[in-house]
Amino acid sequence: MSLLVVCDHDRGSLSEASLEALTFARPLAAAVGLELAAVVIGEGAEAAALDLGAHGAEIVHVASHPVLTDFGPEAWGETVVQLVHSIGVTAVVACGTDRGNEVVAQVAARLDQPFVANCLSVDPIGDGSGNWTMTRVQWGGSLLEDTTLTAGVRLVTVAHHAVEAEVADEPAAGILSAFSPNLDGSLARTVVTDRVVLTKGITLSTAPVVVGGGRGVGSAEAFAPLEELAAELGGVVGCSRAVTNNGWRPHSDQVGQTGTRIAPEIYIASGISGAIQHWVGAMAAKNILAINTDQEANMVTRAGHAVIGDLHQVIPAITEEVRRRRG
Ligand SMILES: Cc1cc2nc3c(=O)[nH]c(=O)nc-3n(C[C@H](O)[C@H](O)[C@H](O)COP(=O)(O)OP(=O)(O)OC[C@H]3O[C@@H](n4cnc5c(N)ncnc54)[C@H](O)[C@@H]3O)c2cc1C
Repeated sequence: MSLLVVCDHDRGSLSEASLEALTFARPLAAAVGLELAAVVIGEGAEAAALDLGAHGAEIVHVASHPVLTDFGPEAWGETVVQLVHSIGVTAVVACGTDRGNEVVAQVAARLDQPFVANCLSVDPIGDGSGNWTMTRVQWGGSLLEDTTLTAGVRLVTVAHHAVEAEVADEPAAGILSAFSPNLDGSLARTVVTDRVVLTKGITLSTAPVVVGGGRGVGSAEAFAPLEELAAELGGVVGCSRAVTNNGWRPHSDQVGQTGTRIAPEIYIASGISGAIQHWVGAMAAKNILAINTDQEANMVTRAGHAVIGDLHQVIPAITEEVRRRRG
């Protein structure tokens, strides 16, 4: 019997979130005595499958079908269901990204099984019942719930950035196995008709450095010094919802509950008050430097480091100092 991890990719480029799901699933599969399997679906899946042995997958199912070229939740969900029946799966794990949650929700509906989304931890109860207890994140991170899962097939997603992706101590075989699901055209309800890649290279969700700006920045043009600092540090610019509401930056730059969850080495949060909806998207950062004129601002009191001052002076001063030290 297998624990199946649904791995996401874009035309062969594996998402870091999938490796988080495998890292999370490894000890779980070992604890309940299940083989760790993975599935990659659609165009480019074979290329995406190659790294998964190093992350602990014994077997990697590569699903292909004309309906599966790009992401479509109905077709991906049905593919996972057919694999569950075909290889004997008693647990499915994915990362709790929008796509991961959408696919597992499809699987849950099709199998008529419960689904626990965005878990921080999962512990099998060792009483022979086969039940699992878990802590899951609700309301964008402001509420943690403990729950018990009783199901024939356990369906779980792990909260994005709850764990850091790590290779296994001992690589697994990662044997590729072709899987051809039986799908008909009616499953292609969501069809990708066009793709525009907005960000090349590092993204907000994977950047090692994020320089964030809030309402305190004051205008779209005033983000230029933040861009300069981000470029100097090999990072990207993020922002608060006050900024996107003002039309100063696109929504793709927004950090928070209704934006992107970030997990950089350092988050420089300037002119951002640190409202809970922003904080839940930023709290996985390993270090936070707040720059704010208000020493009582939430972001300042929660950050590991703070500069109380005007960001329009502090940000250029940091950039200048970084350049000076690099000669
Ligand atoms: C359902 C819902 C979802 C939401 N989702 C999100 C989300 O995903 N992300 C998000 O960010 N927000 C979200 N919000 C909005 C959130 O509640 C806050 O309103 C928002 O985060 C505030 O943005 P801000 O910190 O930039 O602005 P403000 O709260 O106005 O803070 C501005 C800060 O800048 C400081 N400042 C001003 N001038 C300077 C200066 N010159 N130098 C240094 N500091 C200065 C001020 O002291 C202040 O702390 C959501 C709200 C709701 C209701």
